[in-house]
Amino acid sequence: MTREVRGVAAAPGVALGPVKWLASAPATSPNDAPGSDPEAEIARAEAAFKTVAARYAAQASAATGPAADILFMTSALAEDPSLLDQVRVGITIGGPTAHSVTEAVEHFAEQLKALGGMMAERASDLRDVGQRVVAELLGVDPPGIPDSAEPFVLAAQDLAPADTVTLDPAQVVGLLTVAGGPTSHTAILAKALGIPAVVAAPGAVDIAEGTVVVLDGGTGSVEIDPDERRREEVRAERTRQADAPTGPGRTADGHAVPLLANVGSVADARLAVELGAEGVGLFRTEFLFLGRNSAPTVEEQTRQYAEIFAALGDRPITVRTLDAGSDKPLPFLNLPEEENPALGVRGLRLSNVNEGTLLDQLAAIEAAAQESGASVKVMAPMVATVDEAHYFAGRAREAGLETRGVMIEIPAAAIRSAHLGAEVDFFSIGTNDLSQYLFGADRMSSAVAALHDPWQPALAATIAMVVEGATANGVKVGVCGESASHPEFACVLVGLGVETLSMAPRSLAGVRAALAGVTLDQCRAAAQAVLSARTAADAAAAARAALGRAG
Ligand code: PEP
Ligand code: MG
Repeated sequence: MTREVRGVAAAPGVALGPVKWLASAPATSPNDAPGSDPEAEIARAEAAFKTVAARYAAQASAATGPAADILFMTSALAEDPSLLDQVRVGITIGGPTAHSVTEAVEHFAEQLKALGGMMAERASDLRDVGQRVVAELLGVDPPGIPDSAEPFVLAAQDLAPADTVTLDPAQVVGLLTVAGGPTSHTAILAKALGIPAVVAAPGAVDIAEGTVVVLDGGTGSVEIDPDERRREEVRAERTRQADAPTGPGRTADGHAVPLLANVGSVADARLAVELGAEGVGLFRTEFLFLGRNSAPTVEEQTRQYAEIFAALGDRPITVRTLDAGSDKPLPFLNLPEEENPALGVRGLRLSNVNEGTLLDQLAAIEAAAQESGASVKVMAPMVATVDEAHYFAGRAREAGLETRGVMIEIPAAAIRSAHLGAEVDFFSIGTNDLSQYLFGADRMSSAVAALHDPWQPALAATIAMVVEGATANGVKVGVCGESASHPEFACVLVGLGVETLSMAPRSLAGVRAALAGVTLDQCRAAAQAVLSARTAADAAAAARAALGRAG
């Protein structure tokens, strides 16, 4: 039997190839000889940080979309004065220069890790900065992607943005990391580049250089040294994907399933159009607000929204109002610190303490819709009760927005969907947070990632309940969480009665192809199979059988 290593599914698609490990970083030691002139050493360290920051900034300028944002952020990390201050202290007390950099970086990386969530995942970005500065100081090549004549699966302890953005998908056919989480930069960028990825796979450390693997970024499985029959199967699957149908989403028997994109910037919107998205099912507006000390004005927001609407032409777009709080803190809101931010003042709840931000945003969305003539819907994140849905729909109506919805991502909203449906025009199920709250499992934690497996039957049962509540009110229902980008689970969602699917633009082709290969009846049978299954593994196997898929 083929040996398998399991990790967390981070970017969909199946890859076949030999594993190559990322070249390791130069080591430093407290026993290295310190420089003779501390002042000169401090100046040398400062220059090395500047050089590394400038390289990130140059890479950022040449990149687009999430890659550009992430590289700019990493460039800013390399210029953080408190990091340099810590290095200065190390050198001043007699530490070797390069090792003082390693120590300062570790000090701050541990602090980031202690903060948890998104901040913890930034620790690997900071370590990458440190390793590049150390390489600069030692005059050696920075750690990086190995050279290879044949395509390979890149394996690493963790990948930093500077590594990931330089990847050529023709050469690096898959990504495998020992650490990292489902929301790490590796995962985000792998999806943007269309490279299948599995993260948080501790067993990967035992995979020797050159071992051939089949990596499934949709399930988190890495099969080690598969037999020739399995390799042939994967090659055939990849050819099928390359010949994937284009055009609107539909099943083999013609049931239409509009395939929409999740976007957060103009670059994403352009990519979505290029890859055949029929509209945008989730426009995450947080990007406009993050890293600012004051709220963007209504005019500024209107300009930015209008630019994204224009990029979509006449395709419809669903704008989600600000989903800040928790792992996306906004300094200008001056919110008090919370013990459990994921359970605190986030999403629509922000309007309890700062209604102006919501009202300004609704005004700007309406103004941009008027200006561009776009078909715009608006929805609120993190809605738990009928009162909240009623409140949001009322405010959106007052702003002039005609089509109003709520995200269903809290179990209470799912349970009461028949009542919430009376308040709004549509539901969009956010399965990322819905799984988090349904299973009580932090979505940032790789230790509990198995509970975020879309095949967990309780998730399908909850979605079925939401569809029932929606149908009772004639309300439309879509899914915009990561589960919609899983080709086989997307078929199950359709079988459960979900009408639209929204996902990262690069995931559209795989889902489009999967739908085109099955009938609506097969989707329904797969949905029933999942609902009756005992475990996630049973659900996956039974659904695949109902969909006529191997294994
Ligand atoms: C979700 O929770 O599933 C979702 C789509 O929203 P976000 O990932 O932005 O929280
Ligand atoms: Mg959410």
